[in-house]
Amino acid sequence: MANVNLKINNIPVSVPEGTTILEAARLAHVTIPTLCYLKDVNCVGSCRMCLVEATGARGLVAACVYPVAEGMEVKTNTEKCKKSRKMTLELLLSKHKKECLACERAGNCELQRLSTEYNCDPQYFETDPNLDHPIDFSAPYVVRDRDKCINCTRCVAACNKQHVGAIGPIGRGYSAHIGSAFGMDLMASVCVGCGQCIVACPVGALRERTTVDDVWAAIADPSKKVVFFTAPSVRATLGEAFGLPVGTNVEGKMVAAIRRLGDVEVFNMDITADLTILEEANELIARIQNGGTLPMFTSCCPGWVKYVEQKHPEMIPHLSTCKSPQEMFGGLLKTYYCEKNGIDPKDLYVVSVIPCTAKKYECTRPEMNGEVDNAITTRELARMIKTAGIDFADLPDEKFDDPFATCSGGGTIFGATGGVMEAALRVAAKTLDGEFEVVDFPEVRGTAPIKEATYKVAGKEIRVAVASGLMNAEEIIKGVQDGSRRYDFIEIMACPGGCVNGGGQPTLPDSIRNTVNLKDLRAAALYTSDKENSIRLSSESPVIETIYKEYFGAPNSEKAHEVLHTHYHADKRI
Ligand code: SF4
Ligand code: SF4
Ligand code: SF4
Repeated sequence: MANVNLKINNIPVSVPEGTTILEAARLAHVTIPTLCYLKDVNCVGSCRMCLVEATGARGLVAACVYPVAEGMEVKTNTEKCKKSRKMTLELLLSKHKKECLACERAGNCELQRLSTEYNCDPQYFETDPNLDHPIDFSAPYVVRDRDKCINCTRCVAACNKQHVGAIGPIGRGYSAHIGSAFGMDLMASVCVGCGQCIVACPVGALRERTTVDDVWAAIADPSKKVVFFTAPSVRATLGEAFGLPVGTNVEGKMVAAIRRLGDVEVFNMDITADLTILEEANELIARIQNGGTLPMFTSCCPGWVKYVEQKHPEMIPHLSTCKSPQEMFGGLLKTYYCEKNGIDPKDLYVVSVIPCTAKKYECTRPEMNGEVDNAITTRELARMIKTAGIDFADLPDEKFDDPFATCSGGGTIFGATGGVMEAALRVAAKTLDGEFEVVDFPEVRGTAPIKEATYKVAGKEIRVAVASGLMNAEEIIKGVQDGSRRYDFIEIMACPGGCVNGGGQPTLPDSIRNTVNLKDLRAAALYTSDKENSIRLSSESPVIETIYKEYFGAPNSEKAHEVLHTHYHADKRI
């Protein structure tokens, strides 16, 4: 492709044909403000914040969609541009519930930042007197506040990219807003709870349904023993909430911080990721050997499970019966751990820290028996640490509490797309073929939409596929159903890139989201941890060996099925 030469604010740049002014400006180290634009998610030119002057164009043009041309001269900061942006912001503020003092996005809100930078008067235009729409609290995972929405449509694009389409623009002109079809509550819609809309939202119009007050109450209750466990990906993202670079592994500080929240114990959820692998790999082997339903799909992502139940109930027999690592941990604590330590399960308050909003919904499912009392996101944990006045940066590195401290590297990589597959392949290969020494399966790593590989284990071919993002999952389902895709085992994660990019992860400013590959950097932190672990196979974790020896006997035993497996049901929606 030919290069195009242009000048942006008098700085010469040369970029491939078809590049937008916004992308070219980045190469010239010029930042153009945006609100509706979000790299790889939304590019519609509707918010009008990125308007610039460009030779050859009539009037101001939206830099996010306008392509560069040979010899073009772009000015991004003229009085005309600045005046236009200021007016756009003041109009947005006139329709915005200004609760900045208590808004959870205060200090991390794109509208607030730009309004300050452009010296806006929030009262310049009269505030819309109709800002009293009810807040949608219907779902146990996402809260929607229409009166804080600026109609940027980033959430709509994120949801459509998930092939869900639970939300969209409703109405026209001044009364246009974002909502679900027929004005229904989010919980009644086809929403699967992935939270991708929350991390896309530039303001406080979407947030998780916070449950931290219940955690604080349990910590203060002397009749409760409180235990936390943290999901694999949380250690790779929590540091971002404290200003650390993307991809910093803060496992030790995270444990130290939780321990300082009160009289609590801190366990490692990577242990039940290991346990999931043992149960799932053995389930797969049994299905292959006994002619069971194939291909088998992973079931550790509740957003994906909800998608199957709602959109493809005919595929339910293909789902592994394993609970997610979160629910396995809840079951393990309320049975094995309580029995071993003489604790009445009702006195044990179990808190999981997860990258995910769908897991907030998952722990409310009746078939999970309330074994996890509370699930809080990475963002909520960060807020608890800040409320407790803990100086995160200065904390020492501390270790998880026994007996759930030591995990395998296979358990840790669960947080990235392809991690479950790789950990399962390690165990399946070792189980079926004792001589098989490979522990790295690079073909299933990385953030390609769909990854496929075939491995020969014990003389048998195992065909696998990995997909993250529900649009890609849909592609796989279609192929499996029409026979064009043939596999034995398929890993699906609802969030693009897997849990490292989950809907409960820290919300980062556009300046980072639009320039940095979050998924790769966060995943790299987990793969490094795996590499540094002397135990790479889930089956070789001493904790797992003890759990089977003392309680379950063997993977897929009757007792294991009772505590670690579950069932799913069709949930057809309009
Ligand atoms: S949580 Fe996921 S499925 Fe639900 S509205 Fe948001 S993006 Fe769509
Ligand atoms: S809810 Fe947030 S992401 Fe969605 S349109 Fe409103 S401001 Fe944009
Ligand atoms: S990919 Fe991870 S974070 Fe996203 S919905 Fe699934 S389990 Fe939750």
